[in-house]
Amino acid sequence: MKHKRLFIPGPVEVEPEILQAMGTPMIGHRSSEFKELYAGVQPKLQELLYTANPVFLSTSSATGIMEGSIRNLVAKRCLTIVCGAFSQRWHGIVQECSKAGDTIDIEWGKAVRPEQVDAALATGKYDLVALVHNETSTGIMNPLAAVAEVVKKYPDIMLAVDTVSSMTAVKIEVDKLGLDVCLAGTQKAFALPPGLCVFTVSQRAMERSADMKGKGFYFDFQAFREYHEKDNTPCTPSVSHIYALNVQLDRIFREGLENRFTRHQEMANRCRNWARQNFALFPEEGYESVTLTTATNNRGIDITSLNKALAARDATIGNGYGKLKDKTFRIAHMGDCTLDQLNELLANIDECLERR
Ligand SMILES: *Cc1c(COP(=O)(O)O)cnc(C)c1O
Repeated sequence: MKHKRLFIPGPVEVEPEILQAMGTPMIGHRSSEFKELYAGVQPKLQELLYTANPVFLSTSSATGIMEGSIRNLVAKRCLTIVCGAFSQRWHGIVQECSKAGDTIDIEWGKAVRPEQVDAALATGKYDLVALVHNETSTGIMNPLAAVAEVVKKYPDIMLAVDTVSSMTAVKIEVDKLGLDVCLAGTQKAFALPPGLCVFTVSQRAMERSADMKGKGFYFDFQAFREYHEKDNTPCTPSVSHIYALNVQLDRIFREGLENRFTRHQEMANRCRNWARQNFALFPEEGYESVTLTTATNNRGIDITSLNKALAARDATIGNGYGKLKDKTFRIAHMGDCTLDQLNELLANIDECLERR
């Protein structure tokens, strides 16, 4: 089968070196080799996330830890900021876990304002805020620092943040922002295959989780910490992913964090300019995602046909998500994607559109 380079917002293209690391011969997860591997990735993850707290590894997709955050941290009531499909999913999880919760509903394509969060929290009803930093379904990036600042005003309210499509692409200073949970699946901005979730838990969140009832078994934060202290995971992890993560972290630091952030910003600027010239940008101005560009399909092009034409050129882009299908389309530029690769894609799209 011919491979199409992925410009969809997840899973994203994975470098051959990473795929090779995934194929490392297997070791026992209670062996000293595994402990060494686990202990080796820790300082790198802490540096990446600007945190002194442990960084846990869950063999699940991100949704697992979205659920874990709710089960471990909501005793009273959860406030979920809903501005697209993934944040809507988080509120659905609150309901499925039989927890009390409300939403702040933001029109798709727009971002939350800190004043909205402040007004909701002032009611005194909540003990957790669930925020999706980069809403991959619409292509907006919420103002994380401003929301975190508001949550800090309320000492008993914690903040869980889904950074699935932003972790490693933009600077997220977990401790400085006071994030109680910061989570990401590895198939997006990390550019690893799907199946692993990287997440932090603050000390106070650990304390709250200790007394929580009905946390279930697989995502109990206490178990992650208990095993973390032995450089291990509670259950058998995807060892292959951890090998790949280790290689990817070395690649990230070889590039340099600041260089990586700059590369993402440059790709975003390029793709936004292209989208403005050829279509229109879907996200509200000033809140566009740095890792994917969502264009409004104001020319009514057939996105499925465009993708077929692109497939002949070994590339594929994302259609709009859910109700935005065909009304928008999405080009991901995250992970190990380069400006040259993005330029090549945009030139290919231009050619495909001219030939229609
Ligand atoms: C992809 C994505 C998820 C869900 O990830 P799964 O791998 O399906 O669990 C959650 N949040 C955001 C922002 C995403 O982009």
